[in-house]
Amino acid sequence: MKAVQYVTVGQAPEVREIEKPEPGPGQVRLRVTAAGLCHSDWFVMGLPAEHVTFPLPLTLGHEVAGIVDKLGDGVSEFAVGDDVAVYGPWGCGACSECARGRENYCPNAGRLGIHPPGLGSPGGMAEYVIIDNPRHLVPLLGLDPVEFVSLTDAGLTPYHAVKNVIDKLPAGSTAVVIGTGGLGHVAIQLLRALTSATVIALDVAEDKLEHARTVGAQQALLSNSEAPAKIRELTNGIGADVVFDFVGAKPTLEIARASVRVDGAIEAVGIGGGTLPTGFGSTPYGVSVRAPYWGSRSELMEVLALARSGQVSVSVERFDIADAPEAYARLHDGKITGRAVVVP
Ligand code: NAD
Ligand code: ZN
Ligand code: ZN
Repeated sequence: MKAVQYVTVGQAPEVREIEKPEPGPGQVRLRVTAAGLCHSDWFVMGLPAEHVTFPLPLTLGHEVAGIVDKLGDGVSEFAVGDDVAVYGPWGCGACSECARGRENYCPNAGRLGIHPPGLGSPGGMAEYVIIDNPRHLVPLLGLDPVEFVSLTDAGLTPYHAVKNVIDKLPAGSTAVVIGTGGLGHVAIQLLRALTSATVIALDVAEDKLEHARTVGAQQALLSNSEAPAKIRELTNGIGADVVFDFVGAKPTLEIARASVRVDGAIEAVGIGGGTLPTGFGSTPYGVSVRAPYWGSRSELMEVLALARSGQVSVSVERFDIADAPEAYARLHDGKITGRAVVVP
């Protein structure tokens, strides 16, 4: 079968012919219907060799949808032919976090060497993928896999971030979204659907700002050192109740710090290598700063439900599997609007 693989440290991904995998006991094989590209794939492909803790080649793809194709021994929860999405942040399945469906915060996954598909385990940017356990499958219930596969990460991750601070976003509040790409453009829609906050979007390119307005941002500003003053102006001098940073680089975290209001919150989602000092006086009084990771299984079901009721969608650029390397190059260069999705 064809698979998009990260083969050599520091080199671009390749489309390769590999063996079709067989599901072991308790596992499920999917015939992949769609797989999204995430900027985190570039984070992984940018790690120096000594930080690569999983074997290469690695089949990429942690946003995955598929049709159940073969059941391993003992699996009865799904039937061949079911249309499903994959819950990606796999945990141990036995701890209290996993019991609550919060496998994204499983404290054992690292120690046990459990990796999400495409981020250490073989991923879904291939014709077939093995899912380790049926609890990591969620029925699509009529959603088109290509249009909605990215909700498994680009939807779930911002949903989890927004839910955490939803009490800080009553009517009259302001939310800032920095970086309006894959995650950010869904975040804007989630904020509009779940809160009555005014959404101010920041990005570095005019076309991205235009897209942000199209998906629901009431204001869109260039992301630069003047942005905090403009945000204060738009909020009568008070600042943003919550800043969601989907870049996470030094300059964007500085914008977050300089834009957030007293007792507000910063959700630092992007993994752009920046850090934000904490401690008295380093941010306005009372500000909480959190670096969330992905989301829970039940939150994934909630995001998919929002999509089914028409309240959130994904702007999708579709690529054949043969063109995945080109799609990755475009993502790297900031040339994708919304999300790039590979259709095997
Ligand atoms: P993306 O490439 O689709 O979008 C990034 C956007 O940020 C682009 O629109 C780009 O123009 C914009 N941007 C770049 N520099 C900017 C700046 N200085 N100011 C404002 N905007 C800027 O990426 P994505 O797939 O949406 O991922 C966003 C970030 O979130 C990445 O760092 C990714 O690794 C991370 N991520 C984190 C989690 C998590 O669980 N914490 C999950 C998924 C992705
Ligand atoms: Zn991701
Ligand atoms: Zn666990």
